[in-house]
Amino acid sequence: MNAQKRNEIFARFQAACPHPTTELVFNHDPFQLLIAVLLSAQATDVSVNKCTPALFAAAPTPEAMLDLGLDDIMACIRTIGLYKTKARHILATCRILVEQYGGRVPEDRAALESLPGVGRKTANVVLNTAFGWPTIAVDTHIFRVCNRTGIAKGKTVRAVEDKLMKVVPKQYQLHAHHWLILHGRYTCKARKPLCEQCLINDLCEYPAKSTI
Ligand code: SF4
Repeated sequence: MNAQKRNEIFARFQAACPHPTTELVFNHDPFQLLIAVLLSAQATDVSVNKCTPALFAAAPTPEAMLDLGLDDIMACIRTIGLYKTKARHILATCRILVEQYGGRVPEDRAALESLPGVGRKTANVVLNTAFGWPTIAVDTHIFRVCNRTGIAKGKTVRAVEDKLMKVVPKQYQLHAHHWLILHGRYTCKARKPLCEQCLINDLCEYPAKSTI
């Protein structure tokens, strides 16, 4: 795909949705975002949003999460997949935040990725959404959209991320993550992409797309 097409794609995403953000519910506090993203691994945002209000009401800070303890954390999140492992990760992460970072989420990629249960994707989401870094966390939706359309082809999520960081025009990098996720979640769906109502249909290079 050439640069002109990519530019037009992101210009259309911006015109359609000037201020995209995560669908995870949190109170704009980096800690709550970190916990919500950690919980969302291999789970839907909807399932996470059902549990986090009670969890954050009981424990809005890392210190309070330590006080809440493993059993009560598990009770709050038991409807989310892998909840036992995630509860252990939350507790271990909170202990590190309290002991090493004064109870705050570090604005630092290496520090974030060293937290239990936090990988590159989660770190990218936190850096982007909580701290305004122009990072792009490639999940299953973004991987699919980028490979189908030709925006950024790659065999692995890291290859797609690296390509996106090279080819997405600077002025669109901050919001590219959310535009691409939302596009994959609601339009360029895995099984049946809604090509007839897709706002980038004429620019998409997916050979199997259906045309308007
Ligand atoms: S035209 Fe179809 S395949 Fe291409 S981005 Fe839109 S929904 Fe996806």
